[in-house]
Amino acid sequence: MTDLPSPFLIGDHPGADALNSRCAPSGEWLDWWRDGASFLDWMRVAGRLDRVPVADQAMLDEIAAEARDLREAVRTHLDEGAPVPLQALNAALARAPWADQLLIGDDGGVKPACLASGADRLLATVARDMANFLSLDNPERTRQCQGPTCTLWFRDTSRTNRRRWCSMAVCGNRAKVAAHRARTRDAEV
Ligand SMILES: [Zn+2]
Repeated sequence: MTDLPSPFLIGDHPGADALNSRCAPSGEWLDWWRDGASFLDWMRVAGRLDRVPVADQAMLDEIAAEARDLREAVRTHLDEGAPVPLQALNAALARAPWADQLLIGDDGGVKPACLASGADRLLATVARDMANFLSLDNPERTRQCQGPTCTLWFRDTSRTNRRRWCSMAVCGNRAKVAAHRARTRDAEV
């Protein structure tokens, strides 16, 4: 079993959650896609696993490595302004084409159908989520947390369009404490 904490699913979009599957919320870097088993766990908890794929451990490890590479390519685009990794995204999407058909998933819910039954469908799912995230309308609602060292991306789905933090409990609170300290310091001078 894995010693990772529960994934941070604060992105309000499955593509943002996929990008946030490597982060350092308390200083130490964590990667929920570090191997096939943890990747599969992440997919399950994130609600992105409609069917458990027919794949052995080695295949899952390999697909997790490919998913990590793709995630880092998309992050380099978002974080550093590198070109959109179109070729890598399209190659991953093409590995498991989505059909305009529905199936009933393991959880009983109705899902769009993916033609691949093997590990490829995992890669295609996160590739599709990240591709959707990059191509959303209103790109100004796609933001990175304003916490000075925070790397988390999210989609602002609030009515007021003023979300600034990955979560109020983590970065929002830190900022409040810092602002309070600054105010107290000013008052003391
Ligand atoms: Zn944050």
